[in-house]
Amino acid sequence: MNPLANYRIPFMGLKPGNHEFQVDVDSEFFACFPESEIQSANGTVGVILEYTKTTMTLRLSLNLTWKVPCGRCLEELTFPLLHEERIAIRFGEKTEITESLWILGKNEYDLDLSQIIYEMSHLALPSNKVHENESDCDPNMLGYTMNESEEESEKPSDPRWDALKNL
Ligand SMILES: [Zn+2]
Repeated sequence: MNPLANYRIPFMGLKPGNHEFQVDVDSEFFACFPESEIQSANGTVGVILEYTKTTMTLRLSLNLTWKVPCGRCLEELTFPLLHEERIAIRFGEKTEITESLWILGKNEYDLDLSQIIYEMSHLALPSNKVHENESDCDPNMLGYTMNESEEESEKPSDPRWDALKNL
């Protein structure tokens, strides 16, 4: 079964009122998106669906833990991914999904939450995927990467180019 099928919420036959539930998100979810920057994350998305016969409002609250190697020393870091969205849903002739308004055509019977959960997770990503302080990085790994770049800059220069610079 397609793992994303779990993220389709049927709304036909719902009683008017607030419906609260929770969906689980894990690495298997992100594996369905080949371009995902997130590979290893898990947690939950709280969903509140306010349903009336003519409108729906979807309130989503994402709460994941993301595991990723530090960009400087490769030690595994964990970041919380927290994000909230409120989406208005209306019924129309044709399905049209925009950022904060979904218009559902006549042939829609469920809400597909997979794309919005994917986008919310990426909006919640921290801008720096490294240890906050460089002193927290694994010194062995840092030393290794620093030595490499020093060697690079200490390369003896080519005497022919040096001669040209002096012209
Ligand atoms: Zn680090």
